[in-house]
Amino acid sequence: MITTKSIAKIKKLVGESRKNGKTVGFVPTMGALHKGHLSLIDKAKKESDYLVVSIFINPLQFGPSEDFKKYPRNIKKDKQLLKKHEVNLLFYPQADKIYTPDFSTFVQEKKISKKLCGKSRPGHFQGVTTIVTKLFNIVQPDLSYFGQKDYQQALIIKKIAKDLNFATKIKIAPTIREKDKLALSSRNAYLSRKERKESRAIYRALTQAKKMIKGKEKNPKIIIKEMKKIITKEPAAKIDYIEIRNAKNLEKIKTIEGKTFIGAAVYFGKTRLIDNIIVSKN
Ligand code: AMP
Repeated sequence: MITTKSIAKIKKLVGESRKNGKTVGFVPTMGALHKGHLSLIDKAKKESDYLVVSIFINPLQFGPSEDFKKYPRNIKKDKQLLKKHEVNLLFYPQADKIYTPDFSTFVQEKKISKKLCGKSRPGHFQGVTTIVTKLFNIVQPDLSYFGQKDYQQALIIKKIAKDLNFATKIKIAPTIREKDKLALSSRNAYLSRKERKESRAIYRALTQAKKMIKGKEKNPKIIIKEMKKIITKEPAAKIDYIEIRNAKNLEKIKTIEGKTFIGAAVYFGKTRLIDNIIVSKN
């Protein structure tokens, strides 16, 4: 595996691979890699000939009171994992080379990014879409991989790729979970033992929603009420949102039909966790 901080070197190496007829796969991450990231990497490895992974903790997508400073960093272990998973090229840029002092251009999706997490984290998705656009321009991948765990993010990236005619195809891979079904996340490391135990309630609530939909409940309000009951039983839990939406565009729905997004954002203590499932009524 080649590791480089240099934008020019990434362009050169990827350009050479493409010239040799190789399909270029790309997995952008913020590091502190876990099995969720590795499942994207393994999928990308299978589907492409030359695999690029980036590790960059993007300051632009963190709010002023969010966890940028304490976000977990473990580059040594990350490199070992990436080598083991046969990644060809690791892009590990420095922040001041990505955002030069005179940086003044931002990419903003204006519909989907206003909803759900966009409401509670103003500026977050603009930070994501700006860095992802830059990374796509640097790497120029044929295929790019994102996790369903961050469903709204994946949908927004699909939308900017379509609206702005990016050449890369966007692939969404399933959420990888712990044994007790908590979605893997670098932020799980912040949870105390008690919070970690309580956090299982998120998946319990999602499962209950799915059960109700399969049992022919069509009213999102009734389902959300049940989900809230399950989560608020946990003393450390504070609900940011619980929503049932059209899975295509995250628009509000009055009746459940077709592909439906069931998502939750919940604080356990100071840690904000998100999770979702997609269900179809039939
Ligand atoms: P991050 O490092 O948190 O920015 O995540 C990098 C990529 O990994 C994103 O596309 C995430 O959606 C994806 N990802 C994070 N956690 C999981 C998970 N538990 N299962 C699948 N994909 C994940």
